[in-house]
Amino acid sequence: MSDDITPAELSRDRVMELDDDHFTTENVAIVTGAASGIGRATAVALACNGLTVAATDVDEEGLEETVDRAADLDVSGEVETVVADLTNDDEVAAIVEAAADLGQLRYVANIAGVQHISPIESFPTEKFDFMLDVMLRAPFLITKHALPHIREASDGIGAIGNMCSLHGHIATQDKVAYHTVKFGLRGLTQATAAEGEGTLRAFTVSTGYVKTPLVTNQIPDTAAERGISEREVVEDVMLGQARVKEMMEPVDVANLFVLGISGYARHLDGGDLTWDGGHLYTYE
Ligand code: NAD
Repeated sequence: MSDDITPAELSRDRVMELDDDHFTTENVAIVTGAASGIGRATAVALACNGLTVAATDVDEEGLEETVDRAADLDVSGEVETVVADLTNDDEVAAIVEAAADLGQLRYVANIAGVQHISPIESFPTEKFDFMLDVMLRAPFLITKHALPHIREASDGIGAIGNMCSLHGHIATQDKVAYHTVKFGLRGLTQATAAEGEGTLRAFTVSTGYVKTPLVTNQIPDTAAERGISEREVVEDVMLGQARVKEMMEPVDVANLFVLGISGYARHLDGGDLTWDGGHLYTYE
C-alpha cells in the first residue's frame, strides 16, 4: 500500500492550542488507548495544551513512546502513564484513582478500541463480548468512577469525550460488534450529558477513516471478505462515499478532543463532532 495510509510524524504546528483557563497542570485528563494512533495523538495534544494527562493503555511500551513523543514536542503539560487492561474492572477503577491523585480530574477521553471483521453468522461471540467490554463497558465504568471526582471541582466544569465513528451513525458489512458499540456510545454520551447539569458535559467524536494501525490491520481481512484488492478497500470501501478523498491524521482527531473539552465548546453537550469528509450527509 502507498503512503496515503501512513500518518505524518506528529508535530507541534499541527496541534490546536487553545486559550482556556482550565488548561493548566493542576487539571487532569484521562486518555485511554494512549499507546497508539488517535489516543496517543490526543494525549500529546492535551499535554501541549498544558494539562496533566493520565495516559492509559494495556501496551506499556507504546505508552513509553507516547511519553517520548510528548517530550520531543516540549509540551507545557505532563504525561503520566497508567498501564491497565480495560477488560479488568479493578484496573479500570485504578486508572481513575491514579488520575485523581495527579490533580483535579476534569476531563476524560475514552478512545481505546479494536476492530474485528467478520459476517454476523461467523462472528465469534467471545470477540463480540470482548469488544463491548473494551469499548462500551469500560467507558461506562470510567465515567461512573470519574463523575464524583469531576464534581469535586468548585466550578463543576469538566467533560467526557467518547470516540465514536461514522460507524456509530451508519452500518456496513462485517462489523457488527463495532457498530453495536459505537451506536451504544452515543447513548452513554447522551445519558451522561443528561446528568451533567450543563457544567459537566459529554460529547462524541465521529470521524471517517484515520491513518492508524486499527485501519491498516483491517484492510487485508476486508479485501478477503469482499473478494477485492487492498487498493479497492481503501479507494472504494473506505473513501468511496466520502467527498474528501483522504484519510485523517490522528492529530486531526486529537484536535477535536481539545476543542470538545474546552470552554469554546461549552454548548456541545450530548452532541457529536462529525468530521467525516461528507460520508454521512452527501451522496452522488
Ligand atoms: P489503534 O489501534 O491505533 O489504538 C487503539 C489502542 O487501544 C491501542 O493502543 C490498544 O493497545 C488499546 N487497547 C485495545 N484493547 C485494550 C484493552 N483491553 N485495554 C486497554 N487498551 C486497549 O486504533 P485507533 O484507530 O487509534 O482507534 C482509537 C479509537 O478510534 C477506537 O475507539 C476506534 O474505534 C476509533 N476510531 C478509529 C477510526 C480510524 O479510522 N482509525 C475511525 C473512527 C473511530
